[in-house]
Amino acid sequence: MARIDDDLLEEIQSELEGTCTTISEIIEQRGLDIDEDAFEDRLLDGNAIERCKCCEWWFTSTSLEFDPDRNGGVCEQCMPELHES
Ligand SMILES: [Zn+2]
Repeated sequence: MARIDDDLLEEIQSELEGTCTTISEIIEQRGLDIDEDAFEDRLLDGNAIERCKCCEWWFTSTSLEFDPDRNGGVCEQCMPELHES
């Protein structure tokens, strides 16, 4: 399986951040030969980015809050307490 080198990873991370591009879309756009799960794991390296479990947009991992109900990171806009106020 193709490896993604650090330079390419960084480029993809900055490209994805703030978008709702899916993993399969970016793999296809870039013509990458990599498994979607493996690719998602790779995105957690370096300047880690993760999808908000709720709106599915990409954020830097540090800006997401862990939501036990969704078992994953959720962005500020999707945090339930913000909708209540
Ligand atoms: Zn969100």
